[in-house]
Amino acid sequence: MSNKELFESVVERLQEVSYLGNAISVLHWDQETYMPEGAADVRGRQLAATSGILHRMATDQELGDDLRRLANDGVDLDSDQRKLVDEALYDYERSNKLPESFVKEIAEADSRGIIAWKKARKAKDFSLFADALAKNYELARRAADYYGYEGSVYNGLLENYERGMTAEMLKPLFAELATRQKDLVARIVASPSQPDESWLNREWPVDMQERFSRSVLEMMGFDFDHGRLDVAAHPFCTSFTANDVRLTSRYDTGLLFSSLYSAMHEGGHGLYERGLPSEWEGTPLAHSISLGVHESQSRLWENMIGRSRPFWHASIGMFRDAFAGMLDGVDAEKAYAASNAVRPSLIRVEADECTYNLHIIIRFEIEVAVLEGDLKPADIPGVWNEKYKEYLGVTPPDDSVGCLQDIHWSQGGIGYFPTYTLGNIYAAQFFEKMETDLPDLWAGVEAGDLAPVRGWLRENIHQVGRKFTAPELLKRVSGRDLTIEPYMKYLETKFGELYKL
Ligand code: ZN
Repeated sequence: MSNKELFESVVERLQEVSYLGNAISVLHWDQETYMPEGAADVRGRQLAATSGILHRMATDQELGDDLRRLANDGVDLDSDQRKLVDEALYDYERSNKLPESFVKEIAEADSRGIIAWKKARKAKDFSLFADALAKNYELARRAADYYGYEGSVYNGLLENYERGMTAEMLKPLFAELATRQKDLVARIVASPSQPDESWLNREWPVDMQERFSRSVLEMMGFDFDHGRLDVAAHPFCTSFTANDVRLTSRYDTGLLFSSLYSAMHEGGHGLYERGLPSEWEGTPLAHSISLGVHESQSRLWENMIGRSRPFWHASIGMFRDAFAGMLDGVDAEKAYAASNAVRPSLIRVEADECTYNLHIIIRFEIEVAVLEGDLKPADIPGVWNEKYKEYLGVTPPDDSVGCLQDIHWSQGGIGYFPTYTLGNIYAAQFFEKMETDLPDLWAGVEAGDLAPVRGWLRENIHQVGRKFTAPELLKRVSGRDLTIEPYMKYLETKFGELYKL
């Protein structure tokens, strides 16, 4: 078989694996949206069976041999084809690093961890979760050993979510970000100039919220011919190739902005998925780069566009129409100010733009300290509370709104919190370049024309697929390595003006 023929056969097998992965994602999506409760058991069996088949296909030895042969001797492949082979081989080798018995041990620890976490959170008693958490950290450290790493043990895990980024890069960067954001928040809190939020304090009908969310998604250019918006307990975006992108949101009658910004956030993820290069469908090149780059897309739409003054001037008419009669006296300026209210709080998922990263940095510092052996999992609650006092000036009354608030650690999700903050930093770095490339950007946004923003992101980020790592993409798009300067400048300018600092 020639290399060309072998390449085609490899692509076919990769696509089979990928389409089966899509089918499993449909099962997951259905589980979170429409599945009747009584189907939970059988759905669990269906997912276990299909995931087992997927794992066997993805780690098939012949596939690995063929990928290695092409990687070593792919002279007659073009550069995209060679990249595809390298990326597929990277994925293949990474998914073969963990022994099967260890993967099983992780799965069992995760399901025990979730149960223990739920119990502990309900009882507001960390001790009920302490053993499961210690076990998950021990498994995380062993996983890092199996994967292999240079420098901090943290890097062995971080690579799963943000390849190319290291704890050594993040530690000084996050420390400086924390200091500067802490200072900004202190000045905002002390400012006599605060937004009027009194008008938000009423019931907002769900159907009206949904109508407004859909109008904004249409304005963003979300393609409802290749996507849907449904309801789920925790908003998320999933896709079954670029041709089928599913968003979910949730509606709370007491919170007007929550559904809007969930829709814009997930819509940003959705536009990324929709914009991935479909000519490489089913291969690693049609895949997003990293969780951080994914998050940069959602944050850019949610915050940099959705919480901007021009956006509110463009959408205030639509806003008033959607909530017929309920928004008399609310103009664009009032909506803009209220959508940017800043308040240090205990709960990460409710945090505003100025305090959000502080929640992440606390988790990152704790994860690093435990993995590097400087902190025992049993001592997390005390350190957590100290850090909340220091960074946000608040103290949890109990651990359910402290270190037990997030599900991640209970299911072994250790090493990926930093991608949320990286998303914010990347977004600002991309946006700064976009503003230079598109001098009429804000005039367009104010006129309700978001197509240039979407077009720029598609060309510079989405269409790239997975040809670069996040650090490479940053350099290519912005001409700079990772830096917090554009992000801090964005925050200081917007909030400085809003709060008259
Ligand atoms: Zn997100």
